[in-house]
Amino acid sequence: MTATVDTQAAEAQALARRAELEKRFAGLSLATQLYIDGRRVDALSGATLERISPRDGRLIAHVSAGDAEDVDRAVASARRAFESGCWSGRSPRQRRQVLQRLARLVEEHAEELALLESVDMGKPYTDALAVDLRVTVQALDFYAEAVDKSYDEVAPTDRDTLATITREPLGVVGAVVPWNFPLMMAVWKIAPALAVGNAVVLKPAEQSPLTALRFAELATEAGVPDGILNVVPGFGPTAGAALGRHPDVDAITFTGSGEVGRLFMRYSAESNIKQVSLELGGKSPQVVLPDAPDLNGVAKAIAGGIFFNQGEVCSAGSRLLVHRAVKDELLELVVEASRRTVVGDPLDPRTSVGALVEAKHLERVLGYVRGAVDDGARLLVGGNRVLEETGGYYLEPTIFDQVDPGMRIAQQEVFGPVLSVLTFEDTDQAVRIANGTDYGLAAAVWTKDLSAAHRMARAIRAGTVWVNCFDESDITVPFGGYAQSGFGRDKSLHALEKYTQLKTTWIKL
Ligand code: NAD
Repeated sequence: MTATVDTQAAEAQALARRAELEKRFAGLSLATQLYIDGRRVDALSGATLERISPRDGRLIAHVSAGDAEDVDRAVASARRAFESGCWSGRSPRQRRQVLQRLARLVEEHAEELALLESVDMGKPYTDALAVDLRVTVQALDFYAEAVDKSYDEVAPTDRDTLATITREPLGVVGAVVPWNFPLMMAVWKIAPALAVGNAVVLKPAEQSPLTALRFAELATEAGVPDGILNVVPGFGPTAGAALGRHPDVDAITFTGSGEVGRLFMRYSAESNIKQVSLELGGKSPQVVLPDAPDLNGVAKAIAGGIFFNQGEVCSAGSRLLVHRAVKDELLELVVEASRRTVVGDPLDPRTSVGALVEAKHLERVLGYVRGAVDDGARLLVGGNRVLEETGGYYLEPTIFDQVDPGMRIAQQEVFGPVLSVLTFEDTDQAVRIANGTDYGLAAAVWTKDLSAAHRMARAIRAGTVWVNCFDESDITVPFGGYAQSGFGRDKSLHALEKYTQLKTTWIKL
């Protein structure tokens, strides 16, 4: 009886919170135009794109959709601002101060930005606030702090010469980002690029432009000069391609699919050989050895590693590689953990798995589910669209057992809450399966044996290997991939290498 009363009270509280967030969103004045030269402008063609919220399939905004001519305007503004020295010519300390002001403004507006993110692309509001916004602020503070503490080099040449090696900004950086962590991933690029003095033109994904547009306004308020940060929402093949092909863009920093990553290399080759860095997809293995510590904890981490952010995470642990000796026990625990996830409205505080970003993506993920069944994998849990009556795009957490390494579900990036379970007999086989895809973004190894962990960490071809943990992350460590997961690194001081070039100056004494 008391339990029922408590449950009812919790439900009433959750619904009240959801209603409060809905009301707050309805009261926001959304930034929906392009942001060029420090002000909002319409696309020259007048075109807009519809923002449909994945939580209920409703239209929330018409956002200006930029095209090649708008990209031209934005790049021209960025070039002018860069060449004027209004930003690159400021001392590193002055740039630090502006970026720190921006970090504080983002902190002050964290709830608003988290709400925009959640309604725009479907992730739980609580995660948007606790993860995306926290990490965004961290990135701004980190690169602000780094920039006036970095020194250049003097080469060890003969005594009658002096050779200095200095880092210089590239000029105009084009940043193209996906929709799964829209603001956070944009800021992983914008913060280091601006810190070292570049001007940036950002193209957010057409599914999630709202936070980037609001962020650009906050940047102006913080003191980023007009033209130093421009945002041009629009579609990939138009606005994205125009930025990639632009002859006056010095570098492209891209996060997204391998297919589009390839296009950016082509755009560069066919235009001005601009520098390109690519953060692409993944098919990360979670390798569980028979002596893994605390299978209950491992199971929770495996469920979290694939269901967090609806599985729309490039480094999601989408393949569970488990030793036959512990498979049955672990799988039972993973299934239990998956049943504890709550699929629901992103604005409901009880929700742990929100909506997939758009109807087309839900169809794509369901296509992988059907394909896996056809290929002979055993559907253990989930596999269905749920909450269809809400108009939103929700999928149950899904687990496939008896997956062979060659199946599509084990090879291709699904980008949804779908886990594939594969079994191995010995560690050599585990490494072969772990390395047996085109990707190499991240991996985890679970074992009590430190030597085995080190050996596997070395043998697995991935940019990040976690041991007895998953998804540990900090702005101080680089993130990026091996193989077809791309090249170049976001985060850490290494990211600064992507946004600077080295100049050697010889002086005859
Ligand atoms: P996507 O490649 O379709 O789109 C990414 C961006 O590229 C968007 O802004 C889009 O408008 C633009 N784009 C699309 N077609 C284009 C074209 N023809 N020319 C120029 N630009 C174009 O990817 P997505 O579906 O938005 O995001 C999911 C993908 O991103 C997954 O593969 C995921 O793994 C990857 N991702 C990687 C990382 C990482 O850090 N490695 C992080 C997040 C997401």
